[in-house]
Amino acid sequence: MEIAVISGKGGTGKSSISAAFATLNTKVVVADCDVDAANLYLLFNPTHESEDVYIAGHKAIIDYNLCNNCGICANHCRFDAINFIEDKITITETSCDGCFLCSRICPTKAISMVRNDKSRMYSGSFRNGKMVYGRLSPGEENSGKLVNMVREKAKQVAKENGIETIILDGPPGIGCPVISTITGVDKVLIVTEPTISGLHDMQRTVKIVQKFNLKPYLIINKYDLNPEMSLDIYEWSFNNGLEVIGHLPFDPQMVDSMVHGKTIIEWRPNSDISKKINLIWSKIMS
Ligand code: SF4
Ligand code: SF4
Repeated sequence: MEIAVISGKGGTGKSSISAAFATLNTKVVVADCDVDAANLYLLFNPTHESEDVYIAGHKAIIDYNLCNNCGICANHCRFDAINFIEDKITITETSCDGCFLCSRICPTKAISMVRNDKSRMYSGSFRNGKMVYGRLSPGEENSGKLVNMVREKAKQVAKENGIETIILDGPPGIGCPVISTITGVDKVLIVTEPTISGLHDMQRTVKIVQKFNLKPYLIINKYDLNPEMSLDIYEWSFNNGLEVIGHLPFDPQMVDSMVHGKTIIEWRPNSDISKKINLIWSKIMS
């Protein structure tokens, strides 16, 4: 079973909750799909059993032996990646979208396209199962495609190791990488927080999830920081036929656990918040 945990906005505590789920009793494959800013590997410190190169498109490079500095390429680049720097035509690697246009129009054939090959996907073992994660190199694009690659690898690893549960820790936002994270999963969990932006982002995220014929489960994290807004979230969810399957209080022990390199389940297994997370997990799995 593939379970995606997403949030719509950053800072809701989604990754701490995903990590907590990943350290309950059941062995899991955890896949960090936030390939633009992967961080779960820092907490789980997995062994590296495989490393794959991810080809994230192409970038343009100039052969200065052929270039006559005419500037035609700079005039046509829609991404403003080519400029004169100290009178010399220069391509800014991180701005290049890899569209091939400059390589086609350069009158002296000075521009060639090379593959972006700095992004990586890793898989290995952590203390409660297996972990897969991708790291998109700065300036490299197409994170949705890397998310797909991470998910495929997670499925393969789960099958090879007889693990039934895959937890996908999704990226923030509602863009392409999020869509790649939720497409075809069994269950989606949206973690929100009781703020106006939390509610709005949750509503937008629910709409996206519903387009994929999935009914998301909702969790309100740090509900006690704004009980009135938490009630608004409950009310909106009820009116829209959605279930809030749990609300978690703000608990400094969550931060303490991360500081000590553990999840809350590992750090304070008998705390109220750990019991609540256990209960939420049972509801998801029922
Ligand atoms: S179009 Fe070709 S020759 Fe002209 S500045 Fe660009 S790279 Fe150089
Ligand atoms: S490949 Fe496209 S984006 Fe990159 S420098 Fe050339 S024209 Fe600009």
